[in-house]
Amino acid sequence: MSGDDARKASGTPAAAVAERLRITEIFHSIQGEADAIGWRTVFVRLTGCPLRCVWCDTEYSFYGGNWHAIDDILAEVATHGAKHVCVTGGEPLAQKRCLILLRRLCEAGYEVSLETSGALDVSAVDPRVRKVMDLKAPGSGESARNLWSNLDHLLPHDQIKIVLASRADYEWARAVLAEHALADRCMVLFSSVWGKVEPRELAEWIIADKLPVRFQLQLHKLLWSDARGK
Ligand code: SF4
Repeated sequence: MSGDDARKASGTPAAAVAERLRITEIFHSIQGEADAIGWRTVFVRLTGCPLRCVWCDTEYSFYGGNWHAIDDILAEVATHGAKHVCVTGGEPLAQKRCLILLRRLCEAGYEVSLETSGALDVSAVDPRVRKVMDLKAPGSGESARNLWSNLDHLLPHDQIKIVLASRADYEWARAVLAEHALADRCMVLFSSVWGKVEPRELAEWIIADKLPVRFQLQLHKLLWSDARGK
């Protein structure tokens, strides 16, 4: 029997066979950041990223990974019995079929979030997905990659995340917040690079400037010191 015959016999359309993604890991943990912090969550980490932020803590996702059919990803996610699913990377949108995975997860009834760098177009992301979109500050080395037109595709349930590695990054973020009226679009999260800016220092800057942003600590780093798969 040819591959096509086998697919016809099994009732699997050819398009579904082609719907595969390169995955670094799927794991079950506690959401450590953004609006869904604290919820038991299944993380689907897609392989690959076109950026190279100097403080990146997921460099292991740049290469390797394994191809998984989207049906198999959904089946594995379901085994964990969690309501929340976070699609992350790397940069998940670097694989175009990520959009299909996001839609399928929404259709299956999950609360779905997407962690994205802000460098790739988010306009085609399913509107049910909560986008957690970075704006890259200069200290990341990648601020030239910010795709500012993405701001027009954010919905009130989305979040903008700015990770700060210095006081200069903070001042950049404060200016961007005002210039683009970020807090009128959606929730804005400020967090510090582990080991570069003391969280307490960042908290005090936010208070002193009365900024309309939400300070965040990365809960998973407090709990597991950034161990992979946590
Ligand atoms: S966009 Fe994310 S995954 Fe890519 S280099 Fe930057 S921090 Fe790492």
